Amino acid sequence: MTEETETHFSAARSVLRIVMTSPNPETNPETTTLPAPSLPDIRNETRSTLAHQFSLWNQPGYRLEQLLDWLYCRRVETWDAMTNLPKSLRSQLASVWSLGALSLLRKQGSKDSTQKFLWRLKDGSLIESVLIPANPALYGDSADRHTLCVSTQVGCAYGCRFCASGLDGWKRNLAPWEIVGQILGVERWHAEQNPSEKPTAADKISNHRLINNLVIMGMGEPMANYDNLMMALRSLNAPWGGGIGARKITISTSGLAPKIRQLADEPEQFRLAISLHGATDAVRNQIMPVNRKYPLSELSQACSYYLERKGKMITLEYILIDGVNDAIAEVKPLSDLARRLHAKVNLIPYNTVEGLPWKRPDEARCQKFAETLTRSGVTCTLRLEKGHDIDAACGQLRLKTERELAATSAITGSSIDQPEPES
Ligand code: SF4
Repeated sequence: MTEETETHFSAARSVLRIVMTSPNPETNPETTTLPAPSLPDIRNETRSTLAHQFSLWNQPGYRLEQLLDWLYCRRVETWDAMTNLPKSLRSQLASVWSLGALSLLRKQGSKDSTQKFLWRLKDGSLIESVLIPANPALYGDSADRHTLCVSTQVGCAYGCRFCASGLDGWKRNLAPWEIVGQILGVERWHAEQNPSEKPTAADKISNHRLINNLVIMGMGEPMANYDNLMMALRSLNAPWGGGIGARKITISTSGLAPKIRQLADEPEQFRLAISLHGATDAVRNQIMPVNRKYPLSELSQACSYYLERKGKMITLEYILIDGVNDAIAEVKPLSDLARRLHAKVNLIPYNTVEGLPWKRPDEARCQKFAETLTRSGVTCTLRLEKGHDIDAACGQLRLKTERELAATSAITGSSIDQPEPES
């Protein structure tokens, strides 16, 4: 843990009972289960729904612009903070919608400025987001600000053998506002650290975003929460919402072929990354159970369809795991696949996960793999993982925190099982 780590364990002790369930991904991986219904969060709504409601309330058009500005630019957490809206309108809004915010439970920053955020949701569940400083080599575009790696589920049902996120199974899908809330929460945190950067009334949303790149590859399988994800991304992409360009949003999947096809048919130009980690069925079957349902032939056909429809370069993510997929013999099938799909490859040396047997290959072995792949004509980057010192592997900080909280519970005997109301 670095000196920048912020912990809020006293608050966290009240949410100690975190019940994890693991539905069979083969039978029911795409079910949406949300917390007990209260008022829906306003950030789950589209502009047209809000406009319709405002017209029923006989509100002038500029009121909606003011509301959206408060929600997505100024990122306020209470209705009362919307000071240029009449009190009567704020009361009307509060009678129809809730206005949620994620609660920051823990933050870790590493020496290279990668920041990991651990959020507590209304039901006590924990999720992670990772803020990565600009690195144009990763996803192709020049980036003058920051990339945020976003979670889409609490836990994961897909059980990739090397991954911390799937270790305790899947609990639920995130609602659209909980996905949007990660971007807003990180930016709110940043604004609190840098009060001089407050947006002025003249600022356009997109000009003022700290985060201008999103990678949807945090905890969970994004495509298994497809509808909520698309709703969130549309709000983040829209000029009236987040204003983040579709080409700056990359959705990653472990290989849900039908959803890749569905994404290819969407009007938006979101980018696609495949968490490949093996270029043969033998290797993928060993470490990624999803491959038994959608083997490489089916996955690559879906990727070809995406390519045909979108004409956008696909990224293949390939975590190098010692003795599993890092042999030079693995380069040929990887290179064949990458060339067939006109894809580039991001090589990522494995981040060790406590309790799992997998290891990171040494740097020389990673370099040799990368050089051989490059010589075969494939564009590749060897990503010496930012944040290696901050439990950077997907889901690792959450898992560690849950286990620390459970240990604290065992010692103190506390067994409080009601989540705290969100502040
Ligand atoms: S790598 Fe992705 S899909 Fe696989 S278990 Fe982890 S979060 Fe789930």
